[in-house]
Amino acid sequence: MQKELQALLRVLPSVEELAQSPEMASAVAMYPRPLVIEAVRTALTEARRAILGADAREAGEGGGAQEEGVPAVLRSLVTPGALAAQACERLEIAARPNLRRVLNATGVVVHTNLGRSILASQAIERVVEAAAGYSTLEYRLATGVRGSRHEHVEDLLTELTGAEAAMVVNNNAAAVLLMLGALAHGREVIVSRGQLVEIGGSFRIPDIMRVGGAVLVEVGTTNKTRLSDYEAAIGPDTALLLRVHSSNFKIVGFTEEVGIVDLSSLGASRGIPVADDLGSGAIATLDVFGEEPSVEESVSAGTDVVAFSGDKLLGGPQAGIVVGRSPWIDAMKRHPLARAVRVDKMTLAALEGTLRLYRDPERAVHDIPTLRYLNRSFEETLGLAEELEERLRGRLEERGETDDVGGDEPRNWVTLSVEATGAKAGGGALPLLEVPSHAVVLRCAEEAGGQAVAGGPSVAEIERRLRSAAPPLLPVVARVGRDALFIDVAALAEAELDLVADTVSWAVRS
Ligand SMILES: *Cc1c(COP(=O)(O)O)cnc(C)c1O
Repeated sequence: MQKELQALLRVLPSVEELAQSPEMASAVAMYPRPLVIEAVRTALTEARRAILGADAREAGEGGGAQEEGVPAVLRSLVTPGALAAQACERLEIAARPNLRRVLNATGVVVHTNLGRSILASQAIERVVEAAAGYSTLEYRLATGVRGSRHEHVEDLLTELTGAEAAMVVNNNAAAVLLMLGALAHGREVIVSRGQLVEIGGSFRIPDIMRVGGAVLVEVGTTNKTRLSDYEAAIGPDTALLLRVHSSNFKIVGFTEEVGIVDLSSLGASRGIPVADDLGSGAIATLDVFGEEPSVEESVSAGTDVVAFSGDKLLGGPQAGIVVGRSPWIDAMKRHPLARAVRVDKMTLAALEGTLRLYRDPERAVHDIPTLRYLNRSFEETLGLAEELEERLRGRLEERGETDDVGGDEPRNWVTLSVEATGAKAGGGALPLLEVPSHAVVLRCAEEAGGQAVAGGPSVAEIERRLRSAAPPLLPVVARVGRDALFIDVAALAEAELDLVADTVSWAVRS
């Protein structure tokens, strides 16, 4: 056999021969030559290593015992066709974008890891236009002079929130940082101990205070802070009273917080500005938002500066939106940090496109995906889940891979059902809020504990495959729980159901 292995090594094509083989022609036409050569070289190196590996094993086992010769697998691995296929796959994977579309079947609508909000089609059109051509980003067509990038959305924001002035920066973390730098540098900011929150890894209120150059003055306790606590802490160095929305957690039980109305009147009576880091910043008033404070409420309470995210409950692009009284907003626009955290034109275009939809609240809920998803009824999500189950069943039945079809089928791999779930708004908004939703639930047939039926994949294996789906399939991110895979429809568009069914049926049977 060793001889045969040596012979196999000798018949391997050269890099140049393989690169010029007919099997590589389409790849050569599609990819830059250096990449093709590199992929071909790697395929050949791996083939050589596989042959030598078999050779070494052979020697280790005493060699020559099996006169039948080289395993068929190895033989098929080193044919020119197989080598070319290897190289082409390598090229295809390398050409695949890293930032890729996925289907969000997690049941978390504003999923930070999956890009938070997806844009309304009107917003997408604006982005494409801003990206493809020169624009009026900082230019006034009427007078032919320089303008400000803040102008494009300032009127819309003041109109929608009732505030005097507005500006937009890169994200809400930047908005809070800029606010502290412009309004409280080297001075004291009073915050309730119940609001010293961490919003995901690197954004912690005490840290952001330090970076913003402000001195944090904590008042009250974790569960109770009263107006008198703020009053007692106000001194000559107080620059700001700050309320922070405890976005991602809730303290329940024996609690007391000072509302923004009371805090704002205290600030007004002492001549100290009051700021509100609202986090999610809802402009729409959906029933499901419940007690989530809206931007308008905060502004009408007389708050001087209100900061919130563009891509949480607003349903727009990543952005930090600041609305409030002109003197403070102007101070922020003039601050040197403003340039470092400024918003880019594509974001502005998307934000303008999104905000314009809010002029008609019904339109906003209909056209902005985040709002549309959160506003779905129990019945609507049930309908979507049943539709998805049916399409999935159809695809699996073609191959006989569910248990309740074709009773004679030997491969009873999975069962499908539709179950009610509680989806999440997510994105640090409404931590306890569950939105009624439904999921298609996939279990491995006839076996508890998520174990695979002989020959079939386990729930964990199917979940892994869903994430690894390659084009033209889209990866599906789903939730594993209670020995089952939950494919939640809360954050899926109707038009995505077929795509989900394609990937899931592939994952179950591949
Ligand atoms: C989400 C959040 C932030 C950070 O906003 P980004 O837009 O993610 O930068 C800051 N403060 C609060 C209260 C938040 O909920």
